[in-house]
Amino acid sequence: MTGKKKSVHVKPDYDAVVIGAGFSGLYMLHSLRENGYSTKVFEKADDVGGTWYWNRYPGARCDSDSVYYNYTFSEELFKGWTWSSRYPEQAEILTYLNYVADTLHLRDGIQFNTTINHANYNEENNLWRIYTEDGDSVTATYFITAVGCLSASNVPNFKGLDSFKGNWYHTGQWPHEGVDFTGQKVGVIGTGSSGVQSIPVIAKEADHLTVFQRTPQYCFPARNHPYDPEFVKETKEKFSQLKTELRESHSGQIIKSRKPSALDDTSEDRNKAYEDRWQQGGYLFIYDDLLINEESNETAAEFIRSKIAETVKNPETAQKLMPSYHWGTKRQILDTDYYETYNRDNVSLIDVRSNPIEEITPNGIKTTAGEEEFDAIVFATGFDGMTGPLFRMDIHGKDGIALKDKWEEGSQTRTYLGLSTNGFPNMFMITGPESPSVLSNMPISIEQHVEWITDCINYMQKSDIDLIEANEEAEKEWSKHCRDIAEETLYTKTDSWYMGANIEGKARGFLIYLGGVGTYRKICKEVAENGYEGFDLISSTKTHSYTK
Ligand code: NAP
Repeated sequence: MTGKKKSVHVKPDYDAVVIGAGFSGLYMLHSLRENGYSTKVFEKADDVGGTWYWNRYPGARCDSDSVYYNYTFSEELFKGWTWSSRYPEQAEILTYLNYVADTLHLRDGIQFNTTINHANYNEENNLWRIYTEDGDSVTATYFITAVGCLSASNVPNFKGLDSFKGNWYHTGQWPHEGVDFTGQKVGVIGTGSSGVQSIPVIAKEADHLTVFQRTPQYCFPARNHPYDPEFVKETKEKFSQLKTELRESHSGQIIKSRKPSALDDTSEDRNKAYEDRWQQGGYLFIYDDLLINEESNETAAEFIRSKIAETVKNPETAQKLMPSYHWGTKRQILDTDYYETYNRDNVSLIDVRSNPIEEITPNGIKTTAGEEEFDAIVFATGFDGMTGPLFRMDIHGKDGIALKDKWEEGSQTRTYLGLSTNGFPNMFMITGPESPSVLSNMPISIEQHVEWITDCINYMQKSDIDLIEANEEAEKEWSKHCRDIAEETLYTKTDSWYMGANIEGKARGFLIYLGGVGTYRKICKEVAENGYEGFDLISSTKTHSYTK
């Protein structure tokens, strides 16, 4: 729908304000600047990097093939950078993002050390006012969130945490100077990706490590290795082809061709295929139906359980480590010596499902099985995923409605294309809920959103459109479409942060579009080509500050 609306013209401080200077914010800033828009980025940290700035816990590394885990919008940037290994450590990825920020001269557009704690849409003048924690504010026509999906740390509200006399850390807010656990008794709570990466490293340093596990995990070996220079050279040479393939692929990565069903193979052939992948390392995507068909799924689950039994020497510990949920329906994990770590004399495992944590005491952690003393506790307890970072900014749209109230009162997150939401005009979310985001290779999905948003703003400026807002009906349909696809899979049968299940009181519902990166790109492109179908577009007499 296109219409007209009267609004008071007030010149904004900026055409666009972007929150966050990680992969999303950096490219958004570059893209808007290249198109002539005055843009300001606010970043809480004192430097660029987003996720890779904050997550400095021991063992933190990428688990996507690094040659695909970078920007592809610039051939020069792509060719000017060389990854050392298949799954590089956090520091290397942070160095990459610094390389991008420096090469594109982005730092002068970013205000660091600035937390945004409120953003408010004003209908009178069709502007966003964005407030910093210190009470300063700026206005902008476009408000763009580049806050990442996993930036709101979750420290469970354990009784007594304040009384703990030792030091405690959350993996997502790790001290920059590092932590020396030498000679210490350490407790790690949580066995998701962060726990599984950090546990083997902490175990090597600490005097004793106790792992508090609520849900055992299916882990598959990463078998990280330095890249063969010939492979890197070839990858750079076929940049254009690679860029197209990544963008049109299902997950934003290049995945070897798969067989349709695990049940088409004999158990002997299947186990050989699983074993080959186990030796080779990387994700266990060998069959297309593993996340759809329970029987197929169980073959993968059983294979990993057999590996746990084979690897972990103490049968009681091995039994505690055996997962029973559908394989792959929580975030899949690539590990380095995770199961092997439980063979160390200085590592023990407590199953908190059978013996829940009752409280943190001044000296340690008390479960129903007793109290254990620690010098340090590590919370590898995850994040309020997808919606958490948005809610923490206290965003208010039309009629003053809070985003949190809109999504939680209806017990449902609702977006149109994961990019925007009704009632919040001229606001765009990069990798928002109900887009492929965390179940895709993030840089590729981020690029698609940034380019779509830039094109959309260009279209608005050229067509004299002042306001774009997701239509309520289109949003309902998109949310339903996302949920319908998810219901066809096994994902919705497991409690996971994908479902919002890790945060008490959070609205439940699958938060990611599962139709695939290539398909999603096509849908977004068609929406744009059809004059931004599903959006309300409003013009007024207001002049704009388009400068190109
Ligand atoms: P997570 O996957 O949410 O894992 C949190 C862990 O803490 C789970 O084992 C959870 O148990 C446990 N936990 C939470 N609350 C607890 C409580 N009250 N008592 C006991 N245990 C509790 O968090 P994460 O490991 O930080 O990973 C989050 C996401 O970040 C990943 O899924 C991934 O997308 C991303 N990540 C990626 C990488 C990478 O290599 N690229 C590395 C790290 C993280 P339950 O399972 O029972 O809830």
